[in-house]
Amino acid sequence: MQSYKIAVLAGDGIGPEVMQEAVRVLAVVQKRFSFQLELTEARVGGAAIDHDGEALPPRTVEVCEQSEAILFGSVGGPKWEALPPNQQPERAALLPLRKHFQLFANLRPAVCFPNLTHASPVKEELIAGGFNVLCVRELTGGLYFGQPKGTHMENGEAVAVDTMIYKQSEIERIAHIAFKAAQGRSKKLTSIDKANVLENGVLWRKTVTALSSQYPDVRLNHLYVDNAAMQLIRDPRGFDVVLAENLFGDILSDEMAMITGSLGMLPSASLGTKELASGRFGLFEPSGGTAPDIAGKGIANPIAQILSAAMLLRYSLGQHAAADAIDAAVRTAIDQGFRTGDIYSEGTQRVGTRAMGDAIIAALS
Ligand code: NAD
Repeated sequence: MQSYKIAVLAGDGIGPEVMQEAVRVLAVVQKRFSFQLELTEARVGGAAIDHDGEALPPRTVEVCEQSEAILFGSVGGPKWEALPPNQQPERAALLPLRKHFQLFANLRPAVCFPNLTHASPVKEELIAGGFNVLCVRELTGGLYFGQPKGTHMENGEAVAVDTMIYKQSEIERIAHIAFKAAQGRSKKLTSIDKANVLENGVLWRKTVTALSSQYPDVRLNHLYVDNAAMQLIRDPRGFDVVLAENLFGDILSDEMAMITGSLGMLPSASLGTKELASGRFGLFEPSGGTAPDIAGKGIANPIAQILSAAMLLRYSLGQHAAADAIDAAVRTAIDQGFRTGDIYSEGTQRVGTRAMGDAIIAALS
């Protein structure tokens, strides 16, 4: 039987609560699809600061290194907000993990289920039947990391400099991920740039276009980022996979998350340079944070964490059937009317974290 090692880093706030449900779901699918998951828990974030004195203890990194993927909860909360910025849980745990494992591709599906369109701030007639857009964002290049970077004095005033820089190989690397993702979906890819103003945009467009001959089954189109920001709200159903560099992807993926209507539903994947027999090493986590306002109450929505586990099965382990089954079970639980508080509406059944997990597991069996 195929066996995989997974690092489980639940973190803080609602992290442990929603992680418990994802782990229960994984236990069910591994039996049903005949593979074995060896899960190893490790501390991260505020929990690790309290226990080990640092947000990312060496043992945690070691567990991740020995694993094929990381299932991550979320980190941070009011308790650690007074720490110096470079010791804060997100900065001291997530950023080093991204760097250590060279997680260069961020995949964020923005899915609005047909039964949840009322929760979206977009008019229902524009999104009837729901939508499903996958944002593929470059995560390690561009303005966030380009050098020179800094603030200096010039003629008696402060001047700030950030540098936008992309190598052709960096664009190709992320574009391959996006083309392949499109091949597994509706085979439509929209590449985002600002080629009318930025040199980076010109190279981005040229590189993505050149690569498209390797993916003749994928329809490629290009949009300037300002136009894309408008079109994604006007007609989200018109998009399948959206590819963007770091800054544009940061903004557009948040825009997409907002118009789905629920943060507690959205998973994400960050894929690294390490290739595995069945996929690519990655870190999989909900798009939201630790939700301190509802932590410990048993009412958080576990769906983002459960769908993150499904992405892990799909992108790191190549267990597509098991991933599809989890996606379908979540959809069934929603269709059956089960709702946590964040997505509750009149006429549906309000449930807690555990009961939502139960409903998804029931739909799986
Ligand atoms: P948040 O995502 O934690 O919460 C925003 C709102 O969404 C809250 O009202 C919360 O209750 C709700 N929410 C989020 N996830 C939910 C779920 N699964 N079910 C139901 N409701 C949910 O964002 P925030 O309040 O800005 O941040 C809180 C803490 O989380 C901060 O310490 C922040 O630094 C941290 N954070 C961590 C990560 C991460 O680990 N990747 C990401 C974002 C924020």
